[in-house]
Amino acid sequence: MYPVIRAKNRTETLVQKEKRLACGDWVEYLTFPKLSAIEGIEHLFTTRLGGVSKGDCATLNFSFTRGDDRSAVLENYDRMGEVLGVEKGAFVTTDQTHTKNIRVVTKEDAGKGVTCNRDYTDIDGLITAEKGLVLSCFTADCVPVYFVDPVKEVIGVAHSGWRGTVAGMGARMVERMSQEFGCEPADIIAAIGPSICQDCYEISEEVAELFMQGFWSAEKIEEYCREAYEAGLHPTGKLLLPGKEAGKYQLDLWLANVVVLRSAGILLKNLDVTDICTNCNPEYLFSHRASGGKRGNLGAFLVMK
Ligand SMILES: [Zn+2]
Repeated sequence: MYPVIRAKNRTETLVQKEKRLACGDWVEYLTFPKLSAIEGIEHLFTTRLGGVSKGDCATLNFSFTRGDDRSAVLENYDRMGEVLGVEKGAFVTTDQTHTKNIRVVTKEDAGKGVTCNRDYTDIDGLITAEKGLVLSCFTADCVPVYFVDPVKEVIGVAHSGWRGTVAGMGARMVERMSQEFGCEPADIIAAIGPSICQDCYEISEEVAELFMQGFWSAEKIEEYCREAYEAGLHPTGKLLLPGKEAGKYQLDLWLANVVVLRSAGILLKNLDVTDICTNCNPEYLFSHRASGGKRGNLGAFLVMK
């Protein structure tokens, strides 16, 4: 039933699931074992399969701004609502512009970006302590990151591309959860979702330098990378590899986000890390690179029941 997914390193880091909808169609999605194990939490990462969008956005697109029919996108939200057990008015969305801005959302924000307009802009991360609100962020090669504090009952999602990652977006999320709700980093379970892999992600020397000089000390980068390697979370523990051309590098955004989250105090045992690349699986997941920009958006959804 499932199309073959090429996972990079390990298996069963994410679990493929399917659900038959009331309309008779099947929808397929991915879940993280560590998030699934938390009582009262529903989450998923969408695939391209099980929606009604056509063309470049086929079939399960969640963007209203990539040329898709509005009615098709709304139907896709209805379908995900059916999987998560909520109405589409329960979703609240980011307005992603590669910032590190975070918004704490409440019931008043329900439906914003889906059933009503957003009254905010430039928000790449969402946090809430409200039950029944589906935090939603969107990717197609960039990294979605999920956060759950089961102790304080606070959840968050963030969009972390290279700009967000080098700016420490994941660490900003943890800081904000601590400031607003008293969350302890050691209680937070986090998951790094499907996005572009190191083999597929070439960057310039300038960007590589930002990663080495930016958010963390060289010693900390080495320590956290080695730790991830030793724990079997990464096959080499190398954040940057030489590029296929001179002056280029291959960046591992998954490992970079591990470093960000570890630096914020999240424990390695509380982390799930993807091994599924969007660019390697363009029939199954939307990939900006693989499609030359002609693509829909995947959804990362998280709700506390
Ligand atoms: Zn890849």
